[in-house]
Amino acid sequence: MTWNGIEGHDDIAEKLRRATARNRLASSFLFVGVAGIGKRAFALNFAKALLCQKHREATLDPCGDCQSCIMAAAGTHPDIEIVCKPPEKSALPLDLFLGAPERRGKEGLIHAISLKPFLGGRRIAIIDDADYLNTEGANCLLKTLEEPPPRSVLILIGTSPARQLPTIRSRCQLIRFSPLALDTVADLLMSKGLVTDLAEAQRLAKFSDGSIQQAMELAAPELWSHRRLLLEKLSASILDSVGLAKEVAAFVDDAGKEAPARRARFRQVVTFAADFYRRLVHSRSAAPITMEPELQAVFEAAAARFQGDAIVAACCLERCLDTLGQIDRNANQATLIEAWLDDLAAETSLVGN
Ligand SMILES: [Zn+2]
Repeated sequence: MTWNGIEGHDDIAEKLRRATARNRLASSFLFVGVAGIGKRAFALNFAKALLCQKHREATLDPCGDCQSCIMAAAGTHPDIEIVCKPPEKSALPLDLFLGAPERRGKEGLIHAISLKPFLGGRRIAIIDDADYLNTEGANCLLKTLEEPPPRSVLILIGTSPARQLPTIRSRCQLIRFSPLALDTVADLLMSKGLVTDLAEAQRLAKFSDGSIQQAMELAAPELWSHRRLLLEKLSASILDSVGLAKEVAAFVDDAGKEAPARRARFRQVVTFAADFYRRLVHSRSAAPITMEPELQAVFEAAAARFQGDAIVAACCLERCLDTLGQIDRNANQATLIEAWLDDLAAETSLVGN
């Protein structure tokens, strides 16, 4: 089942449909979940359904051909306001909420959501990249969140509740989006034409954590060659943490100047390492994980070199998972790379002593 072409989130659509039918729809929502699973598309469809001029909003089933639905699909609906972080900024600029300095309060999202609806019965505002809402931005939203204009709906989209300011979190209804099923990721990669080979789509889906975005990041060939190098170094009898830290740091730098791109790249590298140790734990104990042949060969060679047992591999896996948590808390990247690899070297250096 898919809700209006949105894969994997029927349960949320149903919950919102029930709330709408009972006239109990909240006025502010916080959508959270990993990047690349369709939260923004869901929010846009939700807005479209609430504004449709033909179908009752309680059905949450936009007709697709009324004036409102057509404008919503084209991104030109006068009652839908969307803001997102410009790529060159590190936070959502205040002007997006309040208007430019010379037009303060006469433009921007807060002004827009307070206007009388042009077409339908509601005004809807969507704040994408809510992870990048700073205290100033959050403060100017508080009044709107506390006294929402009649029949307005505000949707904030972020990756995790922990990345939102408490003042925002406590004033919104939290909606958690689950990662997509791996089959769904493979199907979407194919149907969107992002990948043409089914086996390749399935291979990417397997390491996507249920995110289309992550699957696409994995499609980059340089990522696969880095992964081979990483497995080689991690399985060496002595882990050269200083040398490897330099290579990882250079590889992360190659992702670009933007912090989110670098963070995503670093997360990818640690995820590869975590995956290696997870497989090691399984292969050193009773239940090896099945893999596609190409990866199997790379993994087996590395597993044969790795001198630790399942417990050592499990300790290394834990270090990787700790590090993944720290990346999301914006810790200093260079220091984090060094600390992570030093810890792995320490875990594995005890082997054989
Ligand atoms: Zn319609």
